[in-house]
Amino acid sequence: MKIIMLGAPGAGKGTQAKQIAGKYQIPHISTGDIFRANIKEGTELGKKAKTFMDQGLLVPDELVVELVADRIIKDDCKNGFVLDGFPRTIPQAQALDEALAKMGEKMDFAIDVDVPDAHIVNRMSGRRACLHCGATYHVVSIPTKTEGICDACGNEVVLRDDDKPETVQKRLVVYHEQTQPLIDYYNKQGILKSVDGTRPMETVFAEIVRILEA
Ligand code: AMP
Repeated sequence: MKIIMLGAPGAGKGTQAKQIAGKYQIPHISTGDIFRANIKEGTELGKKAKTFMDQGLLVPDELVVELVADRIIKDDCKNGFVLDGFPRTIPQAQALDEALAKMGEKMDFAIDVDVPDAHIVNRMSGRRACLHCGATYHVVSIPTKTEGICDACGNEVVLRDDDKPETVQKRLVVYHEQTQPLIDYYNKQGILKSVDGTRPMETVFAEIVRILEA
């Protein structure tokens, strides 16, 4: 099962992607997580990516495409994978299709988690992330057990730079300009499924499972 999660930043696609990966025992591939890990390790890729990420801009296609193409040929992707945050542009989607075609494969589902912009801005300001282990929380809907402390590793949770309101507005503009056209792209391929992402996390997940198992 090869799945793409689509949706604006903050629509909850990462949370859903993790749940899907857990239920179906397939890798969760988040390009945002890969970049953040590289930033933490201080790699060249991390340094390059950070300058774009901090401004709410997309990292250039050429830095992303190879990363994903190399990842999906790994052994653990044999039974499928769930892509979270990739593709984000039409050229990335085309490159993904080409990489899969070389393996005689294609994507099975593109799931769009649909949430209006006004909801997103509210949600993102409550988001908290652990910069140590990558776990994410929300002050209202997914609070940490102890305020400000990561349940998973005990380090501090913070509002990520790219989740700050001014950066979120910028990311939404970028999303509408560069990523939303993918909805049409996958609709034309006949693999697009939309879910209403404003509902509780469990309800959204149950609907996704229904779609995947239909
Ligand atoms: P995310 O955690 O998926 O919201 O990604 C955080 C940031 O990483 C984005 O705002 C982009 O700057 C960058 N990024 C992640 N994935 C991609 C991608 N597929 N193409 C370009 N930039 C990306």
